[in-house]
Amino acid sequence: MRFRSFLIATAMFSTPALAAPKVIVSVVPAHAIVSAVMGDTGKPELLLSGKMSEHTANFSPMQISALGKADLVFVIGTGLEAKLTQLSGSEAVNGKAFFELSKADGVKTLPKREGGAWETHDHEAEEAGHDHDNDKDHDSEVMAPAFDPHSWLDPVNAAAMARAAAKELSKADPDNAATYAANAEAFTASLDALSAEITTELAPVRDKPYVVFHDAYQYFEARFGLKAVGSISDASAASPSARQLKEVRDKLAETNAVCVFREPQFDDNFVRVVIEGTKAKTGILDGIGADLEPGPAAYPALLRNLAKNLKDCLGG
Ligand SMILES: [Zn+2]
Repeated sequence: MRFRSFLIATAMFSTPALAAPKVIVSVVPAHAIVSAVMGDTGKPELLLSGKMSEHTANFSPMQISALGKADLVFVIGTGLEAKLTQLSGSEAVNGKAFFELSKADGVKTLPKREGGAWETHDHEAEEAGHDHDNDKDHDSEVMAPAFDPHSWLDPVNAAAMARAAAKELSKADPDNAATYAANAEAFTASLDALSAEITTELAPVRDKPYVVFHDAYQYFEARFGLKAVGSISDASAASPSARQLKEVRDKLAETNAVCVFREPQFDDNFVRVVIEGTKAKTGILDGIGADLEPGPAAYPALLRNLAKNLKDCLGG
């Protein structure tokens, strides 16, 4: 319990104020949830800025050693930050086990969508008959999750994650337990209001079919009753082949998609080429917070932006 003795030492020699635990959180939406729960007690550190794919991000030795020194590490898990979750409990992070928010009590995970118009990660490689284990480019697919890992996009799940974070924080820092619990409840209440607002906003476009860049929005769609009909890229966002391009165009024609949504992390060339000569428009969806200022406000901002961009493109 190195952490305890450190706390006692700082309490004795510097300040009588309660020292909050040192917390690291993987991605912007999870960081927003944990920030809301910590409130004024302290600020969690953000590991991954939004400007990269949450699925393929790599970590520097410095980041990895910081993980080992943190009191608490929160990740989304269920295969989202594949290379990060792999480190959980390992020697590289002093045996620190990360808390997977997607596995918290009350979080409802949905199976990954496959087949039909949903682009799956490995179909290309399988057709080519690759030996996956020896294929460096397909690292992440070896541990491809059976569950869709983007579970934070359902605000009901986010509330459950906040409550779980409050419990974990309270174990590390019992003195602030009441504050963490109160903050989690306040956050949950704000999400109820947010859900009601978004339900109203999206009501006019619920039956409009659209296609997304990568299949990341299923939780949001399920919660708000939207009609996504397919995705055009696998989670690695690799450049599509001519054959994939044709597939996507066929998909747009078959589904009568009104919009094709790109993502801020990725070049929009592909989407522009795809919609040429079709009636579809383009919009932008950001499920990971690529363009958001990290902090507690990033979570409601993330959901509001999704709703606004869906409504603007589908309703226009
Ligand atoms: Zn994703």
